[in-house]
Amino acid sequence: MSADRHYDVIIIGSGAGGGTLAYRLAPSGKKILLLERGDFVPREKQNWDSRAVVVDGRYNNVEPWRDVNGKEFVPGAHYFVGGNTKLYGAALVRLRKQDFGEMRHHGGISPAWPLNYEDLEPYYTEAEYLYQVHGIRGEDPTEPPASKPYRFPPVSHEWRIQQLSDDLKRLGHRPFHLPVGVLLDEQNPQKSKCIRCSTCDGFPCLVQAKADAHVICVEPALQHSNVALLTKSKVTRLETDSSGRTITKVHVDHDGVQETYSANIVVSSCGAVNSAALMLRSVNDTHPNGLANSSGQVGRNYMCHINSVMLALSRCENPTVFQKTFGLNDFYFASKDWDFPMGHISFVGKSDAEILAAGAPKIAPGFTLELMAKHSLDFWMTSEDLPDPNNRVTISRDGQIQLSYKPNNEEGHRRLQAKLKSLLKDVNCTEEVIHLNAYIGKRIPLAGVAHQNGTLRFGLDPRTSVLNLNCKAHDLDNLYVVDASFFPSCGAMNPALTIMANALRVGDHLLERLK
Ligand SMILES: Cc1cc2nc3c(=O)[nH]c(=O)nc-3n(C[C@H](O)[C@H](O)[C@H](O)COP(=O)(O)OP(=O)(O)OC[C@H]3O[C@@H](n4cnc5c(N)ncnc54)[C@H](O)[C@@H]3O)c2cc1C
Ligand code: SF4
Repeated sequence: MSADRHYDVIIIGSGAGGGTLAYRLAPSGKKILLLERGDFVPREKQNWDSRAVVVDGRYNNVEPWRDVNGKEFVPGAHYFVGGNTKLYGAALVRLRKQDFGEMRHHGGISPAWPLNYEDLEPYYTEAEYLYQVHGIRGEDPTEPPASKPYRFPPVSHEWRIQQLSDDLKRLGHRPFHLPVGVLLDEQNPQKSKCIRCSTCDGFPCLVQAKADAHVICVEPALQHSNVALLTKSKVTRLETDSSGRTITKVHVDHDGVQETYSANIVVSSCGAVNSAALMLRSVNDTHPNGLANSSGQVGRNYMCHINSVMLALSRCENPTVFQKTFGLNDFYFASKDWDFPMGHISFVGKSDAEILAAGAPKIAPGFTLELMAKHSLDFWMTSEDLPDPNNRVTISRDGQIQLSYKPNNEEGHRRLQAKLKSLLKDVNCTEEVIHLNAYIGKRIPLAGVAHQNGTLRFGLDPRTSVLNLNCKAHDLDNLYVVDASFFPSCGAMNPALTIMANALRVGDHLLERLK
């Protein structure tokens, strides 16, 4: 391998995990290569056009995958510099302290993590600072202890959301301001990078004001001359030496040209599905079932949360522009109503008629899509799904990614939906509550892989986990993983902040190792 193709560290994938790790390692002066299969999101008018983004899927550039029966589907994910954070809703929330321990659910046990909340807490704080999270401590009774206040005040509610929050508080509930990563300065709107628009969650930010991994981490990392980024560079296979302990070659399809690179340390951060697929595609004589797979766990325990959108049609109009400011965790844990956790309630971005048309909802009597959009409160609900070895990523005979997933632990989610409906009746704001029936609004189906995690779980026992506590593969000396694959269980909070915090944690370990 020529010296110019050899690096101290190669990071594969530039999303929440890989981008954050590159940022952490950049000041070390070590020679770092970031390999990203996607390109930059084009900056164009369509970034904020709901027809282009939601109806036409302009930024849905992932190849088709197959379901358990071999049927193709197009996953709701994105290959870009910054990964899925380019289109995420930037709700940057911590898992709860209890999520790190074992928890009983209606559908079974959510296993404990091999580290405690306290081990990750300093990194959560750091990730919140780095990603400019706006929030306020003390409102959400389930929030875990934090060592610092938020760096920025919470994003304010617009009047309709404030009204909902006030109504719920009057009934004794504890709604809170959802922590979000947008570069918004409400005190100084003329100077604020974020203009608080309606096309944020699920859209790229045309003015680069979303705290995504590209803006916050990859661009600053590239200011260091020791860091290089290669786009349109899909890693196809990792090759090891004959002992199988060391990766010696990283095979790359660079815009159609086959190239190889090498590094002392290789970090996979392709997202939970693609990192597992990369391991499975890297079979060799010493790793006959896929790289790092002596446990047989590679690709297994795929989780993605049980998510749904519920559209509540309110008597009064909802002219909210930036809707993702509200959260409610009153049903996150077992409660006096039920012995098991239900989950988290918040909002998606405000829907318009185009978005509703894409979801093809059942039109409520007397409503047009425009009228529905004008009156809707567009709730997002998340419940925990549990690790199941049969929910897994495999490679089909023709080389495609195959995703087998049977939702589990669904009763908690059904109860959460029922709770929300009854809450809305209590605050007397709905004439009718309907379920949307498509990707943007529905019980999110298999293609809704936004919260994918768990396929290369970390743990203390190499017989039951793929990665060790530092997210190094048990079976190899120089392979790490810092995307969402490492989750042994996923709680019911959005995953990105945990991935970012963990990447900073693993980054500290690598800085020590690289000394
Ligand atoms: C519409 C949407 C809204 C979301 N909203 C939220 C939210 O509000 N809050 C939240 O916490 N989470 C949210 N998420 C989820 C969040 O974006 C992900 O959890 C997070 O980005 C996952 O980080 P990751 O590092 O695991 O993978 P990614 O961020 O997906 O990064 C993986 C990267 O690897 C690259 N890659 C893949 N395979 C290869 C290969 N073979 N070679 C080279 N590069 C490769 C990909 O192109 C990508 O850039 C949302 C996701 C979506 C799609
Ligand atoms: S709300 Fe702010 S961060 Fe989000 S897309 Fe609009 S300008 Fe960008």
